Amino acid sequence: MAPKRRKTQTGGGETSIPPPLTNKETSAGKEIQVRIDPDLLDCSICFHPLCSPVKQCKNGHVACPSCWSKLQHQCHICKFPVVTRSIALEKVLEAAHLPCTYTNLGCRQSVSYSQMQVHTDTCEFGPSLCPIPGCAHKAFSGEWRGHFLKDHQNLQRKCSYGQTCYVRFKKEDRYYILLGPGEDLFLLVKEPICNVGNALSLYYIDLPHQGQHVFPYELKVITRENFITSSVQLNSQAVSIKEWKRGEVHGTYLLVPLGFTEQHMEVHVCL
Ligand SMILES: [Zn+2]
Ligand SMILES: [Zn+2]
Ligand SMILES: [Zn+2]
Ligand SMILES: [Zn+2]
Repeated sequence: MAPKRRKTQTGGGETSIPPPLTNKETSAGKEIQVRIDPDLLDCSICFHPLCSPVKQCKNGHVACPSCWSKLQHQCHICKFPVVTRSIALEKVLEAAHLPCTYTNLGCRQSVSYSQMQVHTDTCEFGPSLCPIPGCAHKAFSGEWRGHFLKDHQNLQRKCSYGQTCYVRFKKEDRYYILLGPGEDLFLLVKEPICNVGNALSLYYIDLPHQGQHVFPYELKVITRENFITSSVQLNSQAVSIKEWKRGEVHGTYLLVPLGFTEQHMEVHVCL
């Protein structure tokens, strides 16, 4: 079992002094809390967190691997060539754990300092890119409704649970946003599959692990020709996604074969 960390209280205008360490706590293998300015663990050139291998010149100046290679392995301060790795500092970086940058947005992960940049770049609480082609807007979870309402009014429909809403895709349309009750947002995607047809899929826009709810849906596309009605239909559950990469289909989808509909495709959606 991991040793219990002692909490150092701050705030309230008082500086509390951590209780002295007991013999047990100072024995080998036990953790102690150390306060350190995280800036000291950043590369002094690019200011990103240092990561292994940490190279140093013979005077002990360090920089991150990427900056060293850009400097052609010559120290940026004293111009001596890089001579060795700073193993001790690498161990400190590995052992020092910090809360994720997106803690205030809900990430509960504690990340080793050397992995902080990698985690920040891929953290599911980080910002994601708007799926609408040509839109470069980046936003965090919870901000999308405002963006869609403001910037994509022509690509959205309001919908209620238990009622069918109709989405009319023009040939060039690829996405529709369904504004559900409350904060619920869905993305209806029409993904062309070469020489086959179109894959229709529905996603719930949120962070995967927050999607505790299940969102069953029905998609139906109807065509009428010579008084004969044909339809294709899918009953499934909306996959919860954070970022919907263009050109990707997740989970189940409704395949609408080529030539099934005319120029426009009217999709019946029931959530
Ligand atoms: Zn650097
Ligand atoms: Zn140097
Ligand atoms: Zn995170
Ligand atoms: Zn957008």
